Amino acid sequence: DPSPTPATREAVTEVLRRVFGYDSFRGEQEEIITSVADGGDALVLMPTGGGKSLCYQIPALVRPGVGVVISPLIALMQDQVDALRNLGVRAGFLNSTQDSGERRAVEQAFVDGELDLLYLAPERLRLASTAQLLDRGKIALFAIDEAHCVSQWGHDFRPDYLELSALHERWPEVPRIALTATATKATHTEIAQRLNLGAAKHFVASFDRPNIQYRIVPKASPTKQLLDLIRAEHAGDAGIVYCLSRASVEKTAQFLSDNGVPAVPYHAGLDSRVRATNQSRFLREDGLVVVATIAFGMGIDKPDVRFVAHLDLPKSVEGYYQETGRAGRDGQPSTAWLAYGLTDVVSQRKMIDSSEGDLAHRRKLNLHLDAMLALCETVECRRVRLLNYFGQTGEPCKNCDTCLNPPESWDGTVPAQKLLSAVYRLDHERNQHFGTGQVVDILLGKQTEKITQHRHDELSVYGKGTELSEGQWRGVARQLLAQGLLDVVGDYGTLALTDGSAEVLFQGRKVMLRREPEKVARASTPRTA
Ligand code: ADP
Ligand code: ZN
Repeated sequence: DPSPTPATREAVTEVLRRVFGYDSFRGEQEEIITSVADGGDALVLMPTGGGKSLCYQIPALVRPGVGVVISPLIALMQDQVDALRNLGVRAGFLNSTQDSGERRAVEQAFVDGELDLLYLAPERLRLASTAQLLDRGKIALFAIDEAHCVSQWGHDFRPDYLELSALHERWPEVPRIALTATATKATHTEIAQRLNLGAAKHFVASFDRPNIQYRIVPKASPTKQLLDLIRAEHAGDAGIVYCLSRASVEKTAQFLSDNGVPAVPYHAGLDSRVRATNQSRFLREDGLVVVATIAFGMGIDKPDVRFVAHLDLPKSVEGYYQETGRAGRDGQPSTAWLAYGLTDVVSQRKMIDSSEGDLAHRRKLNLHLDAMLALCETVECRRVRLLNYFGQTGEPCKNCDTCLNPPESWDGTVPAQKLLSAVYRLDHERNQHFGTGQVVDILLGKQTEKITQHRHDELSVYGKGTELSEGQWRGVARQLLAQGLLDVVGDYGTLALTDGSAEVLFQGRKVMLRREPEKVARASTPRTA
């Protein structure tokens, strides 16, 4: 590739300073921007907060014509366009939230050459009228934001993104820049292939976040654990707490407020005005905690978020990385804290089982969950595991929980055999299927109504597991699930055996488990599984 002309360098730096008011480029921005400004194609893999937007905005401003940006984040288009207009950039968008009058005005501005940037929702690519419109103006470049949406392997697949290859066929001379914060090898390859970007320059930023301390703890009483964390280490700090359900968002925000931690809820079920108020309070105020579903955060840019806490297990490592990545954008020490337990595994497997989509889709979701579980159960450095997941390498960070307190592993073969054989006997001798709670009660030899009712005290495994506590048994079950040596199925999350379980039961396969902290092992957790 020819290196960029000094004129290009000068032009892009001038726009950076004059329009955006920044002194210098970050990381690889300058290389990316000059290369696209000179008409080259680019594939950019950069973590959230790395500064991807400038990578297409500046080339769009220095090249003649309009930069056409395809983005799935329809909810954010208005904000993005407003922000650009405030900087004096002529920007507009076309999506389904507009009435036809508004749409026509934007289309006219595009045709008249009065726009610098035009944001397009992906579903507009299917309309013949969109191609006809684009034919009537001059296009500076195509920017494909959130390019991982083209990947069927990824966690965010959008069928409309498959239409993007048509853009290139119709306007082969227009440079393209595809951007994403998802950088697994599989996704990277798939983006390049589906968007026909093989000849593009690939820019892969490091996914290492040295200032983030990653910690994953077994879940006992999560809101209490969270409060302890905030009181001990993050009093007065801004933070984001992620929960899976709207109900637990509300409950957790209330609990924190009741306990002297200023906190507001954020989820899609709230009135849009309440949501907007809570979001802008979070951005403006110091030390406010937002408790949110994953709907919160896309496009949020607050540099001093000191902690991101997950009270429920994220569905994928990509999601976890993106959400935790919102901590510490200012480079100061920050905490990524996740509490995870058996019920997370059970409920997520259940959700996958009942999710729409074919078998291949469910298998994909399961593989994403498996990767997340492997990160939770690892005895290695969490940061290195994350980097490896994104195809990068690193040295143990000496900062994450496993580096600071290397977990002991222990030979759990015998307990694993006991637990699995309880499941086996229920299935084979009784044709019965139960969740973890009942299986643990059987092993502990408890005398509950449910035990008597089903005559489980007559099973040979009844009372054969008194060497471990209830909490420890649940830990064993969780780790077996995470290792694929046990499965949960159906609406009630009943336990089932896998090929791996058969190896443990009948072929002497050894099972190594991670030792749980005393406190958690002793705690008895609520029965939901
Ligand atoms: P991404 O899309 O990769 O998540 P953004 O493009 O939203 O990241 O950028 C994140 C933040 O960093 C924004 O506030 C942006 O204005 C800021 N930023 C980007 N590039 C620079 C730069 N060269 N100098 C200073 N701030 C920058
Ligand atoms: Zn580490």
